[in-house]
Amino acid sequence: MSYQMVVLVKQVPDTHNIKGDAMKADGTVNRQALPAIFNPEDLNALEEAIKIKDNYGGKVTVITMGPPNASQILRESLFRNADRVILVSDRIFAGADTLATSYALSMAIRKTGNFDIIFCGRQAIDGDTAQVGPQTAEKLGINQITCVNKIMELKKDTITAERSIEGGYEIIKAKLPTLLTITAEANTPRPASAKKILAYKHAMTPLELDGLDEAYIQSKEIDESHAVIELWGHEQIGANPEQCGLAGSPTKVKEIESVVLGARESKKIEGSKAGLESLVKELMTEHILG
Ligand SMILES: Cc1cc2nc3c(=O)[nH]c(=O)nc-3n(C[C@H](O)[C@H](O)[C@H](O)COP(=O)(O)OP(=O)(O)OC[C@H]3O[C@@H](n4cnc5c(N)ncnc54)[C@H](O)[C@@H]3O)c2cc1C
Repeated sequence: MSYQMVVLVKQVPDTHNIKGDAMKADGTVNRQALPAIFNPEDLNALEEAIKIKDNYGGKVTVITMGPPNASQILRESLFRNADRVILVSDRIFAGADTLATSYALSMAIRKTGNFDIIFCGRQAIDGDTAQVGPQTAEKLGINQITCVNKIMELKKDTITAERSIEGGYEIIKAKLPTLLTITAEANTPRPASAKKILAYKHAMTPLELDGLDEAYIQSKEIDESHAVIELWGHEQIGANPEQCGLAGSPTKVKEIESVVLGARESKKIEGSKAGLESLVKELMTEHILG
């Protein structure tokens, strides 16, 4: 029994390392000032797919929608044992809200052919909406299990997964094909394989290959066989331009406000037995602990 899997991954600005110039004067993110990274939970999503491939066999296709330099996270996916990588990129996709993003992604997924399981991260660290996974499942008309921290059982036609909910866990069994959104709790992503780095360090899109200068191509012995990152525009995925990018995005940003959180009253507790005892005593006095 083997599975056809698709993983959706997003390149994001590294919002964990915000410095002074991270925001522009208008309150939007200054993407140039922040390094672009693999959205952290998408690495967890990829890891789940690769684990299934290791245990049951199958094929892992990784798709990202983004600008041409988003090919970097597809190279990183190849380093982690993905089989096929696709960059969905076209000027027409610019300005997409989550609805237009999930439309383009669902059209690209359809074009890949048969699929049993689609993996997303739970949430992207820049947009933070956690909408793209569920919307993509809706558009494909398939089941979804969100916030998955453990895949408990995989059978020919069904998947059972544990999902985090507020204050506990829920176990859901769904018929395949199913889309899962994966949390950081699910696994520790494997490091890139040295063998795969050597094999794919010059993996690129046909567009990147066209843009290289002849001397570089010759010095690195690059040829067409390195253009393994597929590049799909709106025509290749059969997307209606009216539903893509800004044209297909009903969300309008009305106003952006920069919120600076002020320091609230705080109390430092000594990391000692006496410190702990005084904390417990205080909590009991205030009836927080019974
Ligand atoms: C009016 C408007 C205009 C916008 N214009 C732009 C713009 O010009 N450029 C821009 O970069 N952003 C733009 N955005 C932001 C864009 O909508 C979001 O980045 C995008 O839809 C993903 O939403 P999210 O970041 O909340 O992802 P989430 O929903 O939090 O992501 C969940 C998961 O979905 C998958 N996923 C999300 N996005 C992608 C993707 N692109 N490719 C593959 N998988 C993905 C990943 O698995 C991810 O972990 C705009 C938003 C609005 C509202």
